[in-house]
Amino acid sequence: MPQRATKIVATLGPASSDPAKLEAMIRAGVNVVRLNFSHGTAQDHIDRAELVRSTAQRVGKEVGIMADLQGPKIRVGKFAEGKVMLEEGMPFVLDADRTEPGDIEGVGLDYKELPRDVKAGDVLLLNDGLIVMDVTNVIGGAVHTTVRLGGELSNNKGINKQGGGLSAPALTPKDMEDIKTAMSLQADYVAVSFPKGATDMELARQLCNMAAAPYKHKPGLIAKIERAEAIPELANILQVSDGIMVARGDLAVEVGNAAVPGLQKHMIKLARQMDKVVITATQMMESMITNPVPTRAEVSDVANAVLDGTDAVMLSAETAAGKYPLETVQQMAAICEEAEKTEYDPLEDDFIGQTFKRIDHAIAMGALFTAHHLRAKAIVALTESGSTALWMSRHNVRMPIFAVTSRQTSQRRMTLYRNVRPLLMDTSADRDTALAQAEADLKSRGVVESGDVYAITVGEPMGTAGGTNTLKICRAA
Ligand code: PGA
Ligand code: MN
Repeated sequence: MPQRATKIVATLGPASSDPAKLEAMIRAGVNVVRLNFSHGTAQDHIDRAELVRSTAQRVGKEVGIMADLQGPKIRVGKFAEGKVMLEEGMPFVLDADRTEPGDIEGVGLDYKELPRDVKAGDVLLLNDGLIVMDVTNVIGGAVHTTVRLGGELSNNKGINKQGGGLSAPALTPKDMEDIKTAMSLQADYVAVSFPKGATDMELARQLCNMAAAPYKHKPGLIAKIERAEAIPELANILQVSDGIMVARGDLAVEVGNAAVPGLQKHMIKLARQMDKVVITATQMMESMITNPVPTRAEVSDVANAVLDGTDAVMLSAETAAGKYPLETVQQMAAICEEAEKTEYDPLEDDFIGQTFKRIDHAIAMGALFTAHHLRAKAIVALTESGSTALWMSRHNVRMPIFAVTSRQTSQRRMTLYRNVRPLLMDTSADRDTALAQAEADLKSRGVVESGDVYAITVGEPMGTAGGTNTLKICRAA
């Protein structure tokens, strides 16, 4: 088993859907696969999910699946010639009522609400911020602008408003359909694009639960933080989600590039404090879409996300459409592993002043504290839901956390948790048998040798979620 604690999320696409390539990528370190519902048909996603599951089984490693919903696409329409070249100072009209294809003077809008969402003085960013327009006037459905930063604008490029404030709801009719597909393939996580606040996540939760009921499934919900409005709502969003994604692409366009690194640190810290997971995403290894090695800046970016405490780092086009998907995963894994060796202060948190409402939570923290001070080789959590492993993984400890569960859904959910190695084991026997099995498993993996000390948490009776009430310090036989 790799010693890497940070998890890797890789987006599947044409570059990574070949079985042999995918197998190599999983062996190289992919923990969670992202299905991007902005591209492809329902059947494409179902096929890819099947491929992931069968490949993971062949490799003998559990891989989680995250369905990433497209969300509202605030886009311009099409151009007569596919694109235009805009220059600084030119007037340009974004017109919701325009039916004919676009030209150098203006273009129609896929997003018909834009004229209602903007006013003179607003700044619009198109094509990921590569083009900037100042709104001069809104007349009926026509948004009149002056180009501030020109460039090539082509069909269906995205529009963001600086500072946020577009009214488009987070969940579109397409997303609602896609949730059904995602639940039919039993995605372990659903990522919601552009939520503004907790209400969007609560709606997503309802829709997922409804669609998942026939499959007796329960996905984890990830809120993609990519709207300016979501920042002040972060704690409320976290409260009702299982995790967040630092979605740096759209976020940077709305709040400005320079604000993103600080926000990343803040988001990771708050997510961990609230016992939630966090994925750091977008352009982490961007240059490897075309180059076989990353830039120095990308190496530092990935390493710094690890040092910030992220659960996972994500690859988008690098693995979906890049030339070097396998090499990207290999190098990302190596950067994470090396960054994890950096000196840091483990158990920086002061447990002494804390109180816990739940017995299982207190046991989890007790295990962490004791294992750390004993310099134990490993912590083992016999866990049904995965909660004890999640609590433990919110703190920095040097030793790996082995989460042993009898539920495959819990095992898959835990693929995202930092420093957690989820193992599937039949824990239905009596407690002592389960403990002996767990030790045998750790030994066979080479995690502990005879005489090594490890900590293990368990509940009694066995097999009840939330039932952890015992911490045992063991010396391997
Ligand atoms: P996307 O989300 O890749 O689906 O746009 C991530 C981001 O905006 O960073
Ligand atoms: Mn985005």
